[in-house]
Amino acid sequence: MKSKQVTCIICPKGCQINVKMNGNEIVSIENYDCKRGLEYAKNEVLDPRRILTTTLKLSSGRVLPVRTKDPIPKKYLKKAMFELKDVVITPPIKVGDVVAKDVVGTGIDVIATGNAK
Ligand code: SF4
Repeated sequence: MKSKQVTCIICPKGCQINVKMNGNEIVSIENYDCKRGLEYAKNEVLDPRRILTTTLKLSSGRVLPVRTKDPIPKKYLKKAMFELKDVVITPPIKVGDVVAKDVVGTGIDVIATGNAK
């Protein structure tokens, strides 16, 4: 049986959650202070995900801040960065616009977090 320690990042309390695993199965989860932490710890050991934040090139030569609309599997972060590095987008773009669809086949889009006229 393996034990993993997960630092919950959902709130500033930062609970150190202990997850005991038997292979790929969770046997027990301890030391969380709320349900959100319990869910976070489960996801973190079974399918860790992160929001990817980066910039995309604009046709004007400048760059625009963007992020994935939802968290993507952590294992695809580098691949997604590679896929997005050559994407060039054309204004006008406003916050929330989808600027790249289905990043690395995850079904998750990339949206603008800034405006470009
Ligand atoms: S388990 Fe709950 S109380 Fe603890 S850090 Fe996570 S969200 Fe905050």
